Amino acid sequence: MLRIPEVHDRALAARPGRALPAWHHVLAVVAHPDDETFGLGAVIDALTSAGSAVHVLCFTRGEASTINETGADLAATRAAELRRAGAELGAASCTLLDYPDAGLRAVPRAELEAQVTRLMVQHDVDGLLVFDDTGITGHADHQAATAAARAAARAAGLPALAWTLPAAIARQLQAETGAPFAGRPADQVDLCVRVDRIRQRRAAFLHASQVSPSAVLWRRLQLQGDCEHLRWIEPGRRASAGKHLSAR
Ligand SMILES: [Zn+2]
Repeated sequence: MLRIPEVHDRALAARPGRALPAWHHVLAVVAHPDDETFGLGAVIDALTSAGSAVHVLCFTRGEASTINETGADLAATRAAELRRAGAELGAASCTLLDYPDAGLRAVPRAELEAQVTRLMVQHDVDGLLVFDDTGITGHADHQAATAAARAAARAAGLPALAWTLPAAIARQLQAETGAPFAGRPADQVDLCVRVDRIRQRRAAFLHASQVSPSAVLWRRLQLQGDCEHLRWIEPGRRASAGKHLSAR
């Protein structure tokens, strides 16, 4: 008799949470204009729709992108695209820094970390939202941005939530595109959150220099459906973090 509830509890414990944390102020840290939308867009929209103030920190202007659908000056154009897409997602602010695109790894970690800390303090954030430390697409800039945010979160004792992909979707994208997408097995996923992608799709079109009908983004969103997968990359040590962590 006693073993039945025990097994049941274990199954429940292994099941990912369904709700995003009830943070009042969030800092989303990314490497390039469009990462906040293509990657984090649906999660940012879900947070802002639930009443969170989401501040976006983007380290580069994305001037090294190999994609330029509009033939524009990328540094200037992508800054404007970030502002418009951020507004579409309901972001409270977008801070765009001028570190070299494709060169973030060469910037001292402590310098990037200090930029994150500055905004964490300025906006009195409860938690951070980042790309998974795989970089998702394997991009070194994504990895550097996450490493800096993670170090800043850890130093402040704040929780950080990382957007990730289920391993099966990453494998499928890898097979179809040859790009080094990286995912996580189910036992490394902490949250599986239902999202609405309408605003994310609208915001994606605002990154006009970076989207085309054949962009891998559309295929990824199709495979992801209406779910986003996240994991706690930093648990945080404040009392409030525990409450959020157990939210279902
Ligand atoms: Zn990127």
